Amino acid sequence: MSVAHLQDEVHQASMENPEAFWLNQADFLHWHKKPTKAIKMSTKVLPSGNTHPTWEWFPDGEISTCYNQVDRHVIAGYGSSPAIYYDSPVSGTKRTITYSELKHEVETLAAVLAENGVGKGDVVLCYMPMIPAAIMGILAANRCGAAHCIVFGGFGAPALAQRIDAVNPKVILTGSCGLDGAKVIPYQPMLHGALELAAHKPNRTIVFQRPQHEWKVDEKMGEASWQVLTDDAKNRGVTQECVPVASSAPCYISHTSGTTGAPKGVIRDNGGHAVGLHLSISMVFGVNGPGSVIFAASDIGWVLGHAFILSAPLLVGAATVMYEGKPVGTPDAGAFWRIIEEYKVNALYCAPTALRAIKGLDPESKFLKKVGERNGLRSLNGLFLAGERSEPTLITMYQELLDKYAAPGSHVIDNWWSTEVGSPITSRALIPHAGFDQKTTVRDHPPPIIKPGSAGKVMPGYDLKIVDDEGNPVGAGEMGNIVLGLPLAPTAFRTLWKEEERFYTGYLKRFNGKWLDTGDAGYVDSDGYCHVMSRNDDVLNVSAHRLSSAAIEQAISAHPLVAEGCVVGIPDALKGQLPFAFITLSVPEHPTSPIPDQQVYSEIQALVRNQVGTIATLGGIIQGKGMIPKTRSGKTLRRLLRALVENASHGDFDGDVSTQIPSTIEDYATVDVARQKIREYFAEKGDAHKAIEVRAKL
Ligand code: AMP
Repeated sequence: MSVAHLQDEVHQASMENPEAFWLNQADFLHWHKKPTKAIKMSTKVLPSGNTHPTWEWFPDGEISTCYNQVDRHVIAGYGSSPAIYYDSPVSGTKRTITYSELKHEVETLAAVLAENGVGKGDVVLCYMPMIPAAIMGILAANRCGAAHCIVFGGFGAPALAQRIDAVNPKVILTGSCGLDGAKVIPYQPMLHGALELAAHKPNRTIVFQRPQHEWKVDEKMGEASWQVLTDDAKNRGVTQECVPVASSAPCYISHTSGTTGAPKGVIRDNGGHAVGLHLSISMVFGVNGPGSVIFAASDIGWVLGHAFILSAPLLVGAATVMYEGKPVGTPDAGAFWRIIEEYKVNALYCAPTALRAIKGLDPESKFLKKVGERNGLRSLNGLFLAGERSEPTLITMYQELLDKYAAPGSHVIDNWWSTEVGSPITSRALIPHAGFDQKTTVRDHPPPIIKPGSAGKVMPGYDLKIVDDEGNPVGAGEMGNIVLGLPLAPTAFRTLWKEEERFYTGYLKRFNGKWLDTGDAGYVDSDGYCHVMSRNDDVLNVSAHRLSSAAIEQAISAHPLVAEGCVVGIPDALKGQLPFAFITLSVPEHPTSPIPDQQVYSEIQALVRNQVGTIATLGGIIQGKGMIPKTRSGKTLRRLLRALVENASHGDFDGDVSTQIPSTIEDYATVDVARQKIREYFAEKGDAHKAIEVRAKL
């Protein structure tokens, strides 16, 4: 029996009567033409002859997302409210930008774009560092009625070229450099390299000149300085009004982070994006309007950052912290807590990997406690996590700290979603959300409790099911494929940019168009809480038992000395696969030996046996620092470690793993460190280890 919370009732209302539910939500926004209908369903016939259900949100509505994010707040009298708190320890800069200032910058830049031919149906590509101009550029493109494509500023030339050719931008917006700690990274060589590789050439490249590095613009290549163009536009007094577009017109294109296969261009519609994100930020984050402050520690090049640094906070008129720095090292592991105190942040949003990094360097949370002791964290209503699974120990550790130092009732809240869907599928919703039922109080209807290890309950608009490989729903508590019924919620994609067949084959074909395959595996417990355990390709098959890498990692990270654990399956002659762990310890001086000491080894094995079962007993544990590879958006690249250890088990320590390294990898050096640790591990364990412990197919 699932425990009924108001969240369940609201979800049910969204499923039973989506028309009424979403038209009500649409009312929170300004429409140039108000929709009379929430959804239109039809059938898509693909050139291959395959068909699938398709849909349109608010089919007769017309909207300007930029108007909703900027102009309407100024018109409503909030022009002097802060829109952006830019905080950049890497450049030593802080700046507050009000909604009025933002409007002036955006309407001016939009005029420049319009003069360069940007309008409805065009794409502007934004390859920008984490500076306010990135937000202005995105808003300006939208103001002209164009779509934008976000490309993470850390990408090299080949990844950028791929995206340029995919979306054929009329204009590219960029910055003269990025900053990585003290390192200045000029963007010009990367953009020029990309344009050499790409078949498409943009009409114009507009470069925001940062004081740390000047990009000598090449007019022959259509390059111009952002500041020169906008200063000139300001002198002439030209501005661009918001151009409304059809609700279903593309707002932006974001390519998936590429842990699996070539990147896919996910399209987000204007109307659905605005309505769905307005709901998410109010319901999940409790960020409701001017006066609220959210700090999403991500990059606007990723969906989480685009949505919760830029889109959602501005849709409700809140202030957003745009942080150009890292969780640790800029300058220390106390950066997040300093920012919360300084800007009175109400909601902090980050990937669990950021908390693990902080925990690794500050195992006793001294930085957090120092700010907490002087009541600097009392504004914080919630610490939100997404991007990958959060192990329960991480949640409980930070929950205890919030209980002591944050606002009363503050929680650590995991939420699960993906680039494809654009907003949390499961989380813990705060209801009432303005307009749903004004009379209901949170006191009468407390939100669902937090179950560490669960990503919460399903959010409105998502029809979530757990099914077996044939597409049949499985029972409560049973592990299976997590799928979504159609239509998807309004923020979600409806197809891929110029790859309609791939949308069908990649997401719908597996379950005959009935369900959308999220690619994740997990279960829903008897109280209706969803537990997302692994990507399907991270599932281990040990003696015909399907084990999730996350469940074993969870057990490992319950050990007090483990800062991070990563589990991969390696081939085993007897069992098919055997779990193998990589761990990083949370100790000031990390041991250099790749072999954990006997006590730690036995304690970890005991945790795995007790929490998962003897079936999950580890075939080996390698310890080391800086050896767990991740994507830049914080996802662990398990398949890369799997390939390295698999090669090693064949004695091939230098084997080529380049096909497993996505362009999104955070730090190539981790691959070499992992390779070296594996080599040392095998050298120390010797053949006896191969025979007894790994038993790999040689
Ligand atoms: P991306 O599209 O790059 O944001 O990656 C989405 C994928 O990240 C999901 O399909 C999940 O595999 C994983 N993910 C995101 N959030 C969570 C979460 N809260 N718990 C578990 N996995 C998550």
